[in-house]
Amino acid sequence: MRESLRHHLFRQIRRGRLRSLGRLWVRARALRRDAPPAHGPEGPLLATLAITYRCPLGCEMCDLPAQARGEPSDEELLRWIDAIARLGPAGLGITGGEPLVRKSLESVLARAVKHGLVTHLNTSGLGLGRERAERLIATGLDSINLSIDHDQARVHDRWRGREGAQAAAFDALDHLHQARRRQKRATRLQVMMAVGRDTLERVPHLERLARAAGADALSLLPVHDFPAGGGNRPWPAHVKVPAELRGPGLENSPAYRAGILPFLEGAATPVTCSAPRSGLFIDPSGGLFPCTPAATARAGGAPNIRATPDTLVELYRRGGLAATIPEGRCGRCWWNCHRELDLALGVLGDRKETGQRLDLP
Ligand code: SF4
Ligand code: SF4
Repeated sequence: MRESLRHHLFRQIRRGRLRSLGRLWVRARALRRDAPPAHGPEGPLLATLAITYRCPLGCEMCDLPAQARGEPSDEELLRWIDAIARLGPAGLGITGGEPLVRKSLESVLARAVKHGLVTHLNTSGLGLGRERAERLIATGLDSINLSIDHDQARVHDRWRGREGAQAAAFDALDHLHQARRRQKRATRLQVMMAVGRDTLERVPHLERLARAAGADALSLLPVHDFPAGGGNRPWPAHVKVPAELRGPGLENSPAYRAGILPFLEGAATPVTCSAPRSGLFIDPSGGLFPCTPAATARAGGAPNIRATPDTLVELYRRGGLAATIPEGRCGRCWWNCHRELDLALGVLGDRKETGQRLDLP
């Protein structure tokens, strides 16, 4: 099992949340059988809320900042978190754009923690100083991912479209690490590397830097260049993965790594995914999707939480999120959170339509 999932599971056990873990276990079993749960509501196991698409960075392959409009008010955000909590997911990830641009971020995180959700934050760390780090850690959130894509600052900064972006991310990591020490919190800190074919060989270097700077782990997410990929292949088939990546040391589970390597080498994804039943992504306009890749495709006609705040359970019962996934996207997707969740639950299915199989260790 992925290291971070194990960490969150043990934390929930130590907090005495055995009843909610039991309910999640029942739903996970239902997912394995591809059947509705016998008791309790149907809903996601993993929810993600993008509280803004505004961002001070300009990453090469991201057009989210250009879509930044129609954000929810602070009060509306809290109502959305209440609605998500009623669905009973195990965890909620707060993401962006850059979530730090919203002053209400701390109250958003605190609300999710109050609901007993495993609460996670994704950030680039830009502008995160000592005081904000103290406030973030004080919310009691469970984990933070800081995005750093390369051990060499000039490469990271070029990808992220801003000079000093890598230094700011490492500063933020240091502030967060010191804050959790001072507050005696077990907040998990990870560096998330969006890995491209040109940077595969840098993974071991960045991992060493990240751990030395206070991170608990380095985690990989392959760059998903959906529009540029041909057919259902994300990259040309001749890309080779360095031998060092095949060894241990990364936060991703061995089974995930076994799957990511063929993906990075250009193979289509040989699995089906449970995200339409186990995931929920809410974008800043209230659009409802099963996962980040579906949300960023922004196909029209997605249901909206503003129209259906009290009927999210019904939406799940009738499988209302699957229709928002553009055709062909799943065949070129190795999204870390959904893949790792499916591996942990044992619900990863081989792709029936292509007959492709995944050989797991
Ligand atoms: S930090 Fe994230 S939201 Fe901002 S431009 Fe980069 S990928 Fe897009
Ligand atoms: S495979 Fe990817 S795009 Fe398809 S449902 Fe899963 S996470 Fe979404």
